[in-house]
Amino acid sequence: MTGKPRILVTGAGGFIGHHLVRRLKSDGFWVRGVDIKAPEFEASDAHDFQLLDLRLWQDCQKATQNIEQVYNLAADMGGIGYITANHADISRNNILINTHMLEASRQNGAQRFLFSSSACIYPQYKQNNAEVTPLKESDAVPADPEPGYGWEKLFAEELCRYYKKDYGFATRIVRFHNVYGPLGTYEGGKEKAPAAISRKVALAEDGGDIEVWGDGEQTRSFMYIDDCVEGLVRLMTSDYAEPLNLGTDRLVTINQLIDLVSNIAGKSLKKRHDASRPQGVRGRNSDNTLLESVLGWQPSISLEQGLKVTYQWIESELRKAGRLPAAVASQAAR
Ligand code: NAD
Repeated sequence: MTGKPRILVTGAGGFIGHHLVRRLKSDGFWVRGVDIKAPEFEASDAHDFQLLDLRLWQDCQKATQNIEQVYNLAADMGGIGYITANHADISRNNILINTHMLEASRQNGAQRFLFSSSACIYPQYKQNNAEVTPLKESDAVPADPEPGYGWEKLFAEELCRYYKKDYGFATRIVRFHNVYGPLGTYEGGKEKAPAAISRKVALAEDGGDIEVWGDGEQTRSFMYIDDCVEGLVRLMTSDYAEPLNLGTDRLVTINQLIDLVSNIAGKSLKKRHDASRPQGVRGRNSDNTLLESVLGWQPSISLEQGLKVTYQWIESELRKAGRLPAAVASQAAR
């Protein structure tokens, strides 16, 4: 391991951070994981896992001791319901985490700092149609991001650029587009659409119905976790310091996503649309032209492949917890 950078992953108790720690460790790096909570579904692979609150300056100083590379994934975030209902808390918490983490990393001599931004920074006025034009990195301004969460991410991107300009600090900025996969939270309000849909489909009886937020014609693109982790590692080792999309460019409606998951589950379900629930922007897709030219790579795991693994994992978790209704449990056992 000598000569390899020592790596810090913040948000290592969360979905992407947990998978990233596992990948970096298997690549032979020494890894510290930090989070305010332990991973929900299995123990962390990190050599050193610390429970710290990264809103606090002292905790950021502790986290960044003797570290060469920082993947800063910690954030207060969730699905569209959560980020719509908590603008003040999310903005305050994430501003504290990101400003303190950047400065502590710089003061403690880290050589690289990767900030995890989001497609939520893109202007809402460019996302009013389901048939959206894929979003290019340069579309970010004039700014009109998602209230709260998106504004904070956009500002933290700027802060990374200021640190590069003023201190020569090597920052990397990734804009994720909807990441999904096993070991991600699937209920409680912080889960995203693929996990929520997988849970609802798993709990429904064949021929039954499931609730859909909005009319289901809103569109998104989705990236499987293994592609996400691969892209993160590639971006960190690249010399590219400007914001970069990381997502797929296959646009699907939420109704189509439900049909894909229902097919995997072998169920025929009726959709019950609820227009009163938050839906976010009408359409969002990733333009991967820059990603392809900077990294010479883009995500390749199909939605069908990724959803199958994700659905099976969520169904097995619900089965272990005795949560599948009797009829569903016996169908699943056949
Ligand atoms: P996640 O919620 O599973 O992980 C985030 C982790 O940060 C959580 O484990 C949480 O406990 C931790 N955290 C929150 N506040 C903290 C604090 N004060 N101190 C220490 N840790 C704290 O989310 P994720 O899906 O793994 O997302 C990782 C990063 O990627 C986040 O920055 C998120 O905003 C960004 N992102 C994710 C997606 C996606 O589709 N998953 C999309 C866009 C951006």
